[in-house]
Amino acid sequence: MKIISKIKYFFDIFNILIPSVTPKELIFFVTARCNAHCAHCLYKKQVDDQTRTSQELNLEEIEKIAQSYGRLIKLSISGGEPFIRNDLPEIIKIFNKYSQPNIVDIPTNGSLPKIIEKSVKEILRITNIPIIEIQLSIDGPKGIFEKISGIADHYDKIIETYQLLDAIRQKDERLKIKMNFTYVPENKQYVEPLVHQMNREYKFDRLQITFPHGHHIRNTVINKLFYQEFYTLSKKINMEVAPPNLWDFHSLIFRAIKMLRDDFLLKTMTHGNMGRFCGAGKKIVVIDDIANVYPCEVLWQSIGNLRKHNYNIKTILKGEKYQSFKKKYLGKNKCNCSWGNIALDAIIYNPLYWPKVIFNTFKIFFFHASKKNKT
Ligand code: SF4
Repeated sequence: MKIISKIKYFFDIFNILIPSVTPKELIFFVTARCNAHCAHCLYKKQVDDQTRTSQELNLEEIEKIAQSYGRLIKLSISGGEPFIRNDLPEIIKIFNKYSQPNIVDIPTNGSLPKIIEKSVKEILRITNIPIIEIQLSIDGPKGIFEKISGIADHYDKIIETYQLLDAIRQKDERLKIKMNFTYVPENKQYVEPLVHQMNREYKFDRLQITFPHGHHIRNTVINKLFYQEFYTLSKKINMEVAPPNLWDFHSLIFRAIKMLRDDFLLKTMTHGNMGRFCGAGKKIVVIDDIANVYPCEVLWQSIGNLRKHNYNIKTILKGEKYQSFKKKYLGKNKCNCSWGNIALDAIIYNPLYWPKVIFNTFKIFFFHASKKNKT
């Protein structure tokens, strides 16, 4: 990042304190198409529905949505496999023009190396977004990963994708490469050694494990896991995994926030009171591939379809359906879940947490700086 962008990036943090009708984080499921078949996917029902492809939002419609949306801090692209859409760079360009997000986060199963390389190069070329994070999702070691995702040679393909992205990152430091492991019953014994192997062999800006969320997977996945077990492992990883660049404060800050998020989830999971802090529809909102709007991606309760509201999300967020949603789910003892983004926002949007974020950032920095000095 050039020095001007760096200064702008840090000052823009204060934007999150400016009230607005539209949440500063948008999760946009650009497609339900996917070449993987993961059982724990929270979009599985939509991925399995072959009829959706013909109804996918097109570029013209996406432009109308962005035009009336307003300022974004973070645009999280989701799917399906986002890179299956060959107009993904154009989608990001549209949001860059109208909503100027500081961060664009794109999770991918990493199984389409050449397509991802071409698309990421194009996104960096045609936008001036300060941070583009590509999150590679790996769910197990070679052999196990293929069984979970259903993609042949998936492990080798994700490594090839990493290598191609790494070459781009060396020329453009706006690109960050994350590796995410979703902690599920099928892979939990492999996660720790795999994280350490990845840390030894490659340079991910962030390596993290996440706890699954989603209403439809509750019985099949979440009930077989213990958050406490996940929490202990995640805490260890957040502190011990060496950052490739100690001066990359964006990655350090988000690692520090992740530590606080895990603490936060431990409390809400124990007391069952996420609803009290929940900013669904206020701090974060979800749009799916066929224009439905949801306050959260756990309950999947649509509050309207953008095609029926002139592509203006503000009308939907001011509407009756969202008011009833808020009444039913947001507030003390009303709802609970393990959705990390909601916990993350509860921290980011609360200035009382900011000193802790700074403290954790420096804790990680000095921990690894002193380790480097000893070696
Ligand atoms: S606590 Fe909030 S994010 Fe979680 S399920 Fe309830 S409404 Fe959705």
